Amino acid sequence: MHLMLKPALRRAWRGRNTVQFGVTPAHAVTLGPMDIATGSFLELLDGTRGLPLLREEARALDLSDRHVDILVSRLTEAGLLDDPDAGGPEADALRLRAEAVERQRPDAAALSVVHPAPGSGLRRLAARRAMRVQVRGAGRVGAAIAAVLSGSGVGHVEVLDGGRTEPWDVAPGGLPASSVGERRDTAARQLVRRSAVGGPPPHPVGTSRAPACGEPALSLIVVAPRDGLSVYAPDPDVAAPWIASGTPHLYAGVIEATGVVGPLVLPGGTGCAGCLALNRAEADPQWPRMLAQWKSGRRTCVQACELGLATAVAGLAAAHALSFLDGELPAGTGTRWEAAMPLLDWRSERLAPHPDCPCGAAGHTEVELTSAAAAAQDTMAG
Ligand SMILES: [Zn+2]
Repeated sequence: MHLMLKPALRRAWRGRNTVQFGVTPAHAVTLGPMDIATGSFLELLDGTRGLPLLREEARALDLSDRHVDILVSRLTEAGLLDDPDAGGPEADALRLRAEAVERQRPDAAALSVVHPAPGSGLRRLAARRAMRVQVRGAGRVGAAIAAVLSGSGVGHVEVLDGGRTEPWDVAPGGLPASSVGERRDTAARQLVRRSAVGGPPPHPVGTSRAPACGEPALSLIVVAPRDGLSVYAPDPDVAAPWIASGTPHLYAGVIEATGVVGPLVLPGGTGCAGCLALNRAEADPQWPRMLAQWKSGRRTCVQACELGLATAVAGLAAAHALSFLDGELPAGTGTRWEAAMPLLDWRSERLAPHPDCPCGAAGHTEVELTSAAAAAQDTMAG
């Protein structure tokens, strides 16, 4: 075991005898009291030394073995230590792919801050390789989400859409100008391949929900249709099979000049498309009548979708998806985030489960929700 202070966290002396690790409140930790010699010892924690060598070099700084052991255990408890060799067999396999490791160093550094145990950042990054995500929609938002997921190491990213690429589908990070006129699904598949971190994904992990074709079960569906109304007012019938199969799904899209990320639906645990429709009809009896008109009315050929907003929605949705795939419950769980131009201040609205919705989320407690999510993660991990 080689000990290394997590390089992602900047260090600074806070006063004479306290060290702060990290800048932002979300992950910053302070440790003290700490003397100058101990501060010098911290410089030795760069991943090149094991504990015996560290003790030996600490003696030269007049620090006892006991002092070193206590300090190391405090740093470990605070989640500040990493081990460049830890993380288990999946992380070892990832380390062998030098190009992938180099490309994903910033991602690994970020995950090392989020997940405290040594090696757990790289382990989660490596686990993404066996995961399968379906992105439904290959417009400005959907294609960019698929590219980001693929570039973030998700091993199996499939994109579903129909028709051919139109000039207005083109976006930096999404479908390229050269794909105009090609089938959208083909263009998106090529985009996913180009964005991938490199090398074919490993043999999929077996799970109880794995379909017969040998592909791993879907860890997540991202619903990012080109028609923003399908995100703003998602169709419960479309989501019914995902609710029935217990497949988590996340909505993201742009309608008019408003971007929407969420909700991430954990079937039976959080509010779903059906809950949303029921809540809206209760709050506004005219809602169903208007929705029917919007769905059936004459549609203009090109929908409004500002590129900056579409890119922001894609990025935020991909980050929520990755956080979920890494085993967390991001703020989009059971909640919609919306930003409208020109202010673009993100606002959240919790989507309450509706007691009449067949999804059964109403009546579940937060504790049940957390354990349901943990069970879903266990299933994914195989
Ligand atoms: Zn529901």
